[in-house]
Amino acid sequence: MMTGLFMHDDCLNHITPEGHAEQVARMTSVSAALEPVSGLDRREAPLCEEADILLCHPEGYLAKIRDGKPAQLDEDTWQSEGSYQAARRAVGGALAAVDAVLAGEMKNAFVACRPPGHHAETAKPMGFCLFGTAAIAAKHALERHGLSRVAVVDFDVHHGNGTQDLLWDEPRAFLATSQQFPLWPGTGAADVKGGHDNVLNVPLAPKTTGAEMREAYEAQVFPRLEAFAPELILISAGFDAHRADPLAQLEWETEDFMWLTERLCGVAETVCGGRVVSLLEGGYDLDALGESAAAHVRALQAA
Ligand SMILES: [Zn+2]
Repeated sequence: MMTGLFMHDDCLNHITPEGHAEQVARMTSVSAALEPVSGLDRREAPLCEEADILLCHPEGYLAKIRDGKPAQLDEDTWQSEGSYQAARRAVGGALAAVDAVLAGEMKNAFVACRPPGHHAETAKPMGFCLFGTAAIAAKHALERHGLSRVAVVDFDVHHGNGTQDLLWDEPRAFLATSQQFPLWPGTGAADVKGGHDNVLNVPLAPKTTGAEMREAYEAQVFPRLEAFAPELILISAGFDAHRADPLAQLEWETEDFMWLTERLCGVAETVCGGRVVSLLEGGYDLDALGESAAAHVRALQAA
């Protein structure tokens, strides 16, 4: 079986102001880096339905984004004419990837869409994010596919505060999130454990290297993940822990993302037949982003 890749040109129509880190060029960079990768099951990300967004967000919040005019939503989150459609592709791609992997049509999948999602809280856009894509995908797998346990592993350099918020009271979901700490948004301390001891926060000091990250994952994340024994592993794949990234100060290399992907796929092989769906989150150095995303996808293929 092949690795799936879900993308859509609508994700180019979420426009942020000149100089904004979460820019259209990120999509172009990822797309160019994945273009030469052969052997992928390439599919267009479909639009999600409103009911999908309502798995995690209240109607009033959905309406605010759906009917919103182009505007600055918070200090760093913007909505343009095409943002709602782009965000619906990101969510729709995630759900289609879950459907395809659970149906056995592909062994795993990467969803390369934007805007990202892991900072969006229940009724609050935040940190470039409008809808909590990873949490919605988890709820979709639980509610509609009848899975009993789904895990989300978030290795974006920023705390997955939105995913944590949306899955806080969901004992069937386990979230492991590593983040530079301290760093925006300021949350993600190790003593925050979710409503059902279902959240593992792994704070990493500035300048944490790839070797130190590997130790932390081996000691903390993989044992908890194996013990939880999820039936599906979702990845919030941000590539902004790369040493070249301008928004953070971790010192991971491209090979570290490859290693982490291989290990996560290894755990998935042990607990859930290798079922992994990975979702693009951050990554703001355009070259490092493309290179790391391609390394991530090649590791998914090799799993
Ligand atoms: Zn990030």
